[in-house]
Amino acid sequence: MAPKKNELVTVEITDIGTGGEGIGRADGYTLFVKGAVCGDVVTARVLKSKKTYGYAKIERLLTPSPDRAEPVCPVAGRCGGCQLQQMSYAAQLQWKARKVRECLERIGGVSFDAGAEFLPVLGMKEPAAYRNKAQFPVGRDRNGRIVTGFYAGHTHALIPCDRCAIQAPVNEVICKTVCSHMEKYQIAPYDEVTHTGLVRHILTRVGAVTGEVLVCLVLNGRALWEAEELAERLKAAVEGFGTDWQKNSSGSQPQPQPGSDAYGKNEAGIGTETRTRTTLTLKGVCLNVNCKKTNVILGEEILPVWGDTYLTDYIGAVSYRISPLSFYQVNPEQTKVLYEKVLEFAGLTGRETVWDLYCGIGTISLFLAAGAKQVYGVEIVPQAIDDAKENALRNGIKNAEFFVGAAEDVLPAKYRESGGSMRADVIVVDPPRKGCDEQLLQTIVEMGPERLVYVSCDPATLARDVKYLGEQGYRVEKAQPVDMFPMTEHVETIMLLQRKDT
Ligand code: SAH
Repeated sequence: MAPKKNELVTVEITDIGTGGEGIGRADGYTLFVKGAVCGDVVTARVLKSKKTYGYAKIERLLTPSPDRAEPVCPVAGRCGGCQLQQMSYAAQLQWKARKVRECLERIGGVSFDAGAEFLPVLGMKEPAAYRNKAQFPVGRDRNGRIVTGFYAGHTHALIPCDRCAIQAPVNEVICKTVCSHMEKYQIAPYDEVTHTGLVRHILTRVGAVTGEVLVCLVLNGRALWEAEELAERLKAAVEGFGTDWQKNSSGSQPQPQPGSDAYGKNEAGIGTETRTRTTLTLKGVCLNVNCKKTNVILGEEILPVWGDTYLTDYIGAVSYRISPLSFYQVNPEQTKVLYEKVLEFAGLTGRETVWDLYCGIGTISLFLAAGAKQVYGVEIVPQAIDDAKENALRNGIKNAEFFVGAAEDVLPAKYRESGGSMRADVIVVDPPRKGCDEQLLQTIVEMGPERLVYVSCDPATLARDVKYLGEQGYRVEKAQPVDMFPMTEHVETIMLLQRKDT
């Protein structure tokens, strides 16, 4: 019989669900227990009870699993950002790999025992402070003080939090400086319910190699009181912070040696991937206008306050300009790992024509350009395509061309225009979570590239698309999970598909 709401049930956790929650079974009844780890025995309180399954929270941890780890963050259980902090990193990686493999087998019909290769997941050495981008909602705490934090899972309840374990530590001083400016001039945070107040989010980005920091305030309005004064304070706060974007190194770390290049370049002038310790500098402060009643964080307009409205960073030897509205991978260390795998899977010899669909600011396109004859990128956000074109120029890359539009519109249209003669040797796709539109997959199949490299942030839609491609003449060669998002439920996968008749 199904347990009732509030009832206490003792279960052993034997599985982990797709969102990272523990799963325990008692007498044919399935309980999803938030924060429980495979191997735990817990007494859980039922929060919601359905006929055959229910949701529960841990009341008492009777036997902790050997895979348990002490969460590093005090709000780990409440904040919706991380789901897996209670799991050791080794167990997280193992679970992610299994999640990808099972999805591909179950939904995608891929058989890894018969030819296709499932490669060991690529994790981080130090899975902390890895994010180069943060978006903090601004609100008030119980005492009415202005605070920043994160939303609790599946809600918009603000959990105040100054120090996030996966974010760049410099964010703490940025958030405090903004909050104190708001208190000083009595600037109200935005209130979603009444659609009043001004400051909605603080967006920050840090260049991992360059040390450049960009701060963008998302406003329910077009101007901020004494914004220039805030910019001055932010400049002092960021520059006084220290030299390592991942460590709170204020004062204790050596400054870069005279003559060392803050841009991580070696003597040949080529950017290096080594994380040089560069002094953090504020590159710009800007405003983003978002006056809509919406869950979408960013509006479309950027207004400069001070400095530039973009920052620069490197991945490997390629330098990138990044605007606040453009997508840029959030884990710079793993991005390099990811792109190197994409490059390897693409198998370029210098003669290939490559299409990079969902190209963002052209990161993968430009990373591949040196090895290809010609690269074409397609992306839906116009600002990202502006960045991509600028990025080709600043790197002196002449064999990359970019188009604005939906991949599922642009590629079929160009293919039709060419009367079906347009060819590609390699196509790379890197879609958002919903995966690729079938119209796009159909055109890809018609173009018949020898190799297709699929980069995915959602194993379920990846598996769906791989199934379609499998039925249309593509064979899975390899699947490579990469952990871009330690401590969270998310996992990235790169797959190499080969045209069956090659
Ligand atoms: N490959 C890039 C970006 C990947 S994120 C990188 O590694 O940085 C996915 C990108 O797809 C985002 O930039 C998003 O704006 C874009 N996008 C979303 N829907 C799209 C569509 N239908 N057609 C083309 N691009 C799209």
